[in-house]
Amino acid sequence: MKGSRRAESVSDLVASARAGQARAVARLISLVEDESPLLREVTAALAPHTGRAHVIGLTGSPGVGKSTSTSALIRAFREQGRRVGVLAIDPSSPFSGGALLGDRVRMGDHATDEGVFIRSMAARGHLGGLSWSTPQAMRVLDAAGFDVVLVETVGVGQSEVEVAGLADTTVVLLAPGMGDGIQAAKAGILEIGDVYVVNKADRDGAPQVARELRAMLNFAERSEGEWRQPILKTVAQTGDGVSDVVAALDEHRAWLASSGTLAHRRARRARAEIEAIAVASLRRRWTEVGEHDQLDALATAVVDGQSDSYAAADVLLDSLDHHVG
Ligand code: GDP
Repeated sequence: MKGSRRAESVSDLVASARAGQARAVARLISLVEDESPLLREVTAALAPHTGRAHVIGLTGSPGVGKSTSTSALIRAFREQGRRVGVLAIDPSSPFSGGALLGDRVRMGDHATDEGVFIRSMAARGHLGGLSWSTPQAMRVLDAAGFDVVLVETVGVGQSEVEVAGLADTTVVLLAPGMGDGIQAAKAGILEIGDVYVVNKADRDGAPQVARELRAMLNFAERSEGEWRQPILKTVAQTGDGVSDVVAALDEHRAWLASSGTLAHRRARRARAEIEAIAVASLRRRWTEVGEHDQLDALATAVVDGQSDSYAAADVLLDSLDHHVG
């Protein structure tokens, strides 16, 4: 066991993942999730192979039909010969690595398809936030040659807003009978969707949800050349309307590229990631050089009015400089 671990080379893993080996893909995602000491090497090895996939975020309230829709979308993409990688993010679960696949993601019919890779992940990484391991895992799937990377999140709290920051295209799923029309506005969902899907269109109330949504979206002014979010209806269980969703996703992808928005969104994403890594690295260095005690002392000084938080931050940063020097 020890021997095989030592023999594990990151470049071999990346090569195997790129050759379509699901085991290598899974292993790379685990390295990312566990914040392995190899993480740096993994990220560097993936870098030259990324940027090709269309990253699609799918969000909506629990029960709206995300898992069913994901499965239907996978089927539609596969019919076109596109390879699909799926990350199902569960914000409520401390478990990851596929523990939830059986119950939450009903995709047994894709289990033997080599063109499909599905993985569920806990939302919160060790360093906190969807924003840490999710983009790295997305990068693994992108580098492994999946044409589409689908990131599915439950629309509670901040996670749907975060996923919108990570995806090229964000799909917001609604359904009748869930009070979603009004909730959508409240949750700020109107700002994040590129494509809106009213699922469970076989039920009464679907046209009304679509109408309400259209009315709300029309309040937002859009200038010439801006993307107009389509509102589509589906029955995820039967696959009705799903090909229209795929067409809308492709249209959005083409608009992203032609308008320059894709480069802009991706640069913003990279900036956020660089910042997060830099801040985490600073924090780690404070811990390493034993400045945590100093931080406590500084905090006390700020509380007592002997210092202020800006001056205290300067002291902390200066102390790092001294250690580095
Ligand atoms: P999730 O929690 O958002 O992932 O939702 P699921 O995909 O688990 O679906 C929740 C329930 O809605 C399940 O019982 C599905 O079978 C059902 N469902 C999903 N899509 C549709 C649909 O288009 N019409 C109807 N009537 N039920 C659906």
